[in-house]
Amino acid sequence: MCAVLLKNVSIIYDSYSRRLLRGRDIFVGDNGIESILEGESPSGSKRDFVVDCSGKAVTQGLGNSHTHLGMTLLRGHADGLSLRQWLNDRVWPIERRLKPEHIRTGVELGLTESIRAGVTGLTDMYFSSQEVARAAASSGLRVLVAPAIFDTGVPDSSLNNCLSVINSQPVGGLVSFALGPHSIYACSEETLMKVGEFSRAKSLRVHIHLAETRLEQVECERSKGMREVEYLRKMDLLSKRLTAAHAVWITKQEANLLGKAGASSVFCPVSNSKLAEGGISPVPELLAAGTNVSFGTDGPASNNSLSLIETMKFGSLLLSHSRWDPQSVTPSVCLEMATKNAYAAMDFPENHLAPGGPADLIAFDLRQPGMLGALSADFPNLLVYSGPSVDHVIVNGQPVMLDRRILTMDEEEIKNRFESTVSNIYQT
Ligand SMILES: [Zn+2]
Repeated sequence: MCAVLLKNVSIIYDSYSRRLLRGRDIFVGDNGIESILEGESPSGSKRDFVVDCSGKAVTQGLGNSHTHLGMTLLRGHADGLSLRQWLNDRVWPIERRLKPEHIRTGVELGLTESIRAGVTGLTDMYFSSQEVARAAASSGLRVLVAPAIFDTGVPDSSLNNCLSVINSQPVGGLVSFALGPHSIYACSEETLMKVGEFSRAKSLRVHIHLAETRLEQVECERSKGMREVEYLRKMDLLSKRLTAAHAVWITKQEANLLGKAGASSVFCPVSNSKLAEGGISPVPELLAAGTNVSFGTDGPASNNSLSLIETMKFGSLLLSHSRWDPQSVTPSVCLEMATKNAYAAMDFPENHLAPGGPADLIAFDLRQPGMLGALSADFPNLLVYSGPSVDHVIVNGQPVMLDRRILTMDEEEIKNRFESTVSNIYQT
C-alpha cells in the first residue's frame, strides 16, 4: 500500500452528497481517505506520491455497470445493424474463433480504455472469465466478473462452467464474481431456477440482459404467457441481488416490480440507439419506483466506446429530448447514478468522498480548453456535458493513472499485442 496526497485541489465534488468544496488537500492512506483539509498540511506524514491538483477537480470514480470488454476485438466489425443481425451474422461467427488468450488481450485493452475514461469499477459479462478475472486483477480496478451462461450450445458458457470459475482459486486484486445468465431467451427455465438457488445460497449477484428489444418481449409473451419481468419473478430472481441490463421495453408495471424488489437496472442509451432498438429505458419511472438505476456502455462492438461520460451525456440528453423536459434526468442525477448507484449495483463499498471512504477517485484539469466557460457553470453539468479527459485515477487508495500515464498495465505492450491478435483473428 502507499500514501498519496492530492494537494491544492481546486474543486472537490462529492456526487453522493452533491457537496462541493474548494481549495483542499486530500490525504489518502492504507484505509482510504484519511482527511480532507484546508490550508497547512500536517507535518511528519510521509507520502509516496504528492500530486499537485491545483486547477483540477476531484470527484468519485465512475462505475460502468454493464460491459463486455473482450468485445474490443470486434469494435467496428458490426456497425449499422440491428441486434439480431448484429449477433447472428457478425458477432457470434467471430466469437466462435476467440481463444482465451485473445479474450485476455481484448479485455486488457478495454481496461486501459476504461482507466483513461475515469472508470474505477465495472461489471464484465463474457466468456473465458478466468482470463477476464486475471486481467482485471492486474489493472487495479474494481471488477465484478459475471461469467456468461448460455443454454444454446455456446462453448465455455454452461452454468457449471460459471460455477467452476466462481469457485476456483481467488485471483486477487479487487475482483469479485456474479452469476451471468445471458438472457431469458438464451437460458432455460431450469437454468434460471438454479441460478436463483445459487444466488441465494452463496449471496451472489445475478447479472442478466433484460427486455432489450420489443421482439424479445413479444416472444416472451408468446412462449411463456407473460412479460419478461413477470417471468423473472416466476423464476424467483427478482431481488436486491438482480441487475438487469437495458430494461428498455418494459411497462410501468414492470418498472414497479423491479423497484419493489429493490433490483438494479442499467441504462445503456448509446448501445440501444446504435442497435436501433426503438425504445428508451423509462429511467424516471424506474427511479421513482425505487429501482437502483446506473449506466452501462455495453460492449465496444455496440457503442463503440467505453466512455461512461459520453454515455451519461447521451442518456441525459436523450431523455430530455424525447420527453420535452430538459430536467428529465439532470447531470447531477446522472453522476449519482454513475457513482453511488453503480457501486451499489456491484456490491462495491460506498465510495464517499470523505474520511473513511475507500478513495476511488478521479481528477481532471479544469483548464483544458473544453472545460472553460461561464463562471456560473454548474459543476455536474460541466462534467457531464463537456466531457473532460481524465488525468489521475486512484482506486482503493492506489494510483492507477497519474498525469495520464497508466501505472498498473503496460499500455504500449497491450496495444501491440492487440494489433497482432486482431490480424490473427480476422485472417483465419
Ligand atoms: Zn450487453
